[in-house]
Amino acid sequence: MATIVALLSVVVSAPAFAAARTDCQPQAIRDLERLSPQGHAIYAAMRDKKQFLTFLTCDDVQLGLSTAVHESVHILTEQLDAYPLIAGGSVPRQHLVSRFYPPREIAGKFKADDSYVQTYLRRGAASSADDLLYLLDELNAYSHDLASATKLVDLHKRDGQVDHRAGLAALMTFLMHYVEVARERKAPTWEGLRRPEVKKVIETLWQQAESILVGSLAIRGFGGEAYLAHICERRNGEALAELLGRPPVSAAACGSVATAASPTGAIAK
Ligand SMILES: [Zn+2]
Repeated sequence: MATIVALLSVVVSAPAFAAARTDCQPQAIRDLERLSPQGHAIYAAMRDKKQFLTFLTCDDVQLGLSTAVHESVHILTEQLDAYPLIAGGSVPRQHLVSRFYPPREIAGKFKADDSYVQTYLRRGAASSADDLLYLLDELNAYSHDLASATKLVDLHKRDGQVDHRAGLAALMTFLMHYVEVARERKAPTWEGLRRPEVKKVIETLWQQAESILVGSLAIRGFGGEAYLAHICERRNGEALAELLGRPPVSAAACGSVATAASPTGAIAK
């Protein structure tokens, strides 16, 4: 009973608390339009602006905006049945990927206590653990997220940066390893990945992710070093290279990672 009372008081007071910190929002939206027009395009596409504003917290506007863009991309993806792209337009979801092997089967490759593994690959966690359709949704949402965060650095008033790059680097690592395992021992999935309509989705979302990731590398303190090291290790990307018909990340981009990455940050078990 005491638990129920405590729970009720939290629920009742939460909206009042949230309402107290929305004063930054009108200016934040103008800043998004000025600094990250592509992030603003996601806000503009939202039929219900409140769904965007729910995630726009005022403590750290850079984080609030990039998170709101991320979450809105998920909402738009459901509405459109397509992944909205940063450059505009979208690429239709291919529902047959829901029959491929579940992404959680790759979790054992990574540290179990890693927060991205916990959130996106653990059994019973996000739908991305069960279904590649949603892992691709996360890859796309994190691409938009980092694209905006990169443009919004000037809004960051506090010391230090949040790990804005870690999410995209993690999801790219997961997709890379997913394809690797498919080629190694999941023949039906490997065959499915090579169907032209599926390959096109992977190609489009990967290329977008890659260009946003590479474009962020000059920013210090954005995190994701251990995942970057994984992506840049050539043998980890052999299956994806075969699928795409090119190296997953350019050698030049990885050259700058090698000098920045910390050797103690290795994630593979
Ligand atoms: Zn997400």
